[in-house]
Amino acid sequence: MKPAPPNQDQDRQRAVTAALQARQQGSTLRQAAAAANIHVATLCRWQQQDAELRRALAEAGRQAALARRQPRPSRPQVRWRRDCPLCRARVVVRTARGRVPFWRCGRWPLCPWASWRPRAPRNCPRCNGPRFWSASRKSVVCDGCGLRTKRPLTGVSDRGELLGE
Ligand SMILES: [Zn+2]
Ligand SMILES: [Zn+2]
Repeated sequence: MKPAPPNQDQDRQRAVTAALQARQQGSTLRQAAAAANIHVATLCRWQQQDAELRRALAEAGRQAALARRQPRPSRPQVRWRRDCPLCRARVVVRTARGRVPFWRCGRWPLCPWASWRPRAPRNCPRCNGPRFWSASRKSVVCDGCGLRTKRPLTGVSDRGELLGE
């Protein structure tokens, strides 16, 4: 006769899997324990008793840190215009949350202009409004009238990327 499945072990296995998954997704040990529905002290005790679990949790943490450092999929490099559409001062590139670039007027906060997308070199042929690259950099969209133009390619950068406009 087969012995009844040890419930405690099953629960523990489930908790360990949940904790490892959370850790892989960048959770701290405390958050991982919460995701696994156990106290962080319990998780610490388990990993003290179990070298394999200790290694797995450490490895999951390393993977998460690595994923955080991984650059976002690279977008085609495009030429962008450096004058602010509102006041014509020089535009600067900043990074939000350490990784998302955005463009903003160099006179900020005196001038409030900011954008998640860089300004295209030429203004709109229809309304002469400032135009901005799409998120994928495959087209240019006019802020004024909404006219969207496919990206005119003009060459290849020294990094082998296609250049627009
Ligand atoms: Zn400005
Ligand atoms: Zn327009």
